[in-house]
Amino acid sequence: MDFRETSEHRDLRDTVRAITAKFGPEYYVPRAEAGEPTHELWAELGRNGFLGINLPEEYGGGGAGLAELAMVCEETAAAGCPLLLLLVSAAISGEMISDFGTEEQKRQWLPRMASGESKVVFGITEPDAGSNTHRLSTVAERDGGDFVINGTKHYISGVDEAEAILLVARSGRDEATGRGRLSLFLVPTDTPGLVATPLPVSAKLPEKQFVLHFDALRLPASALLGEEGNGFAQVFHGLNPERITGAAVCVGIARHLLAQAADYASTRSVWGTPIGAHQGIAHPLAKARIETDLAALMTAKAAWLHDNDQPAGEASNMAKYAAAEAAGAAAEAAIQAHGGNGLATEYGILPYWGISRLLRIAPVSREMVLNFVAQHSLGLPRSY
Ligand SMILES: Cc1cc2nc3c(=O)[nH]c(=O)nc-3n(C[C@H](O)[C@H](O)[C@H](O)COP(=O)(O)OP(=O)(O)OC[C@H]3O[C@@H](n4cnc5c(N)ncnc54)[C@H](O)[C@@H]3O)c2cc1C
Repeated sequence: MDFRETSEHRDLRDTVRAITAKFGPEYYVPRAEAGEPTHELWAELGRNGFLGINLPEEYGGGGAGLAELAMVCEETAAAGCPLLLLLVSAAISGEMISDFGTEEQKRQWLPRMASGESKVVFGITEPDAGSNTHRLSTVAERDGGDFVINGTKHYISGVDEAEAILLVARSGRDEATGRGRLSLFLVPTDTPGLVATPLPVSAKLPEKQFVLHFDALRLPASALLGEEGNGFAQVFHGLNPERITGAAVCVGIARHLLAQAADYASTRSVWGTPIGAHQGIAHPLAKARIETDLAALMTAKAAWLHDNDQPAGEASNMAKYAAAEAAGAAAEAAIQAHGGNGLATEYGILPYWGISRLLRIAPVSREMVLNFVAQHSLGLPRSY
């Protein structure tokens, strides 16, 4: 086992951090406060080949793996610009299209996703299904050569910025289990029959969330991604990249907040010494730093397992859990270290608290990770 980073990886991290640092919190925070997309940074990352770093070279990607995409996620966040759509468009949609897409689908979507011209967001969550994917009720029915989609999704991020939605819908029933068979579809966002309504959230995020209504939306058979009825297995395959990149964003957020807080606590003085000399301030920051480094190790392990075609579910879940908790701890400690300034718009901490809080719920909640570990790692009876 060699824990030294290769010079290629160091260069990758340095370059992404240098590009993002030109934008930094001064760019991200006002956009998060206003709910405005971070188009300029996305375009710059695309121009430099970082959005599709994990995608195959023949489709405009960088030919690297998820480990490298996770580094892009971590370094952009560490430079003050956590990008939620990296988890969605670059990780989950990019990986699923490249693994399950037809030649035509790959040529249509991947090069422009890699260059930053196009985004494909991901729609699975439904009001009545929540964490229970077996209860999805959005249906795709065959009608001649077409599919007709009806149903509702909510909390779908970035629909206003996207050219298509990778949609998970029920396309049949497994007679043996009675459960729905799922399929995946690439749905252009301008398809008639799709109504997208903003769903306001009070967390400060540049990415907007949407409720989607599908009303007899008609798709050609060529919109099906992968095998009809095999969507459940395909979605599970795509969830690990989303969890690993989610973990990487959390590690980056924690690094950003801890650096800012350490700087503040080293200079702010109210009793004659810097407040960072008081253990009540220093220890929570140190604890969050330890948790962040531990989470970073598990994130690297999960990405390595995924890239080497090893089972990565357990490590991806653990990395996502640990990193989201670490980012939460870092946000809490950073706010406290700043005192009243921790809540001030000028110091820009609350948007990072918001996204770190979100990442304890999405893309998979901490409770569902604990359920997974209890059942699969410890062999405990399933509780639900
Ligand atoms: C800002 C934002 C952006 C999002 N972006 C997207 C997106 O782009 N695409 C998309 O498809 N979805 C998206 N989501 C949805 C997100 O993935 C879900 O909110 C998340 O998976 C949890 O599902 P839920 O909200 O339905 O919670 P529920 O399933 O209703 O759960 C509520 C609470 O109960 C807990 N719980 C549920 N079941 C169990 C159990 N068996 N044991 C113990 N505890 C349990 C959960 O952990 C949670 O704390 C987004 C959400 C937000 C807030």
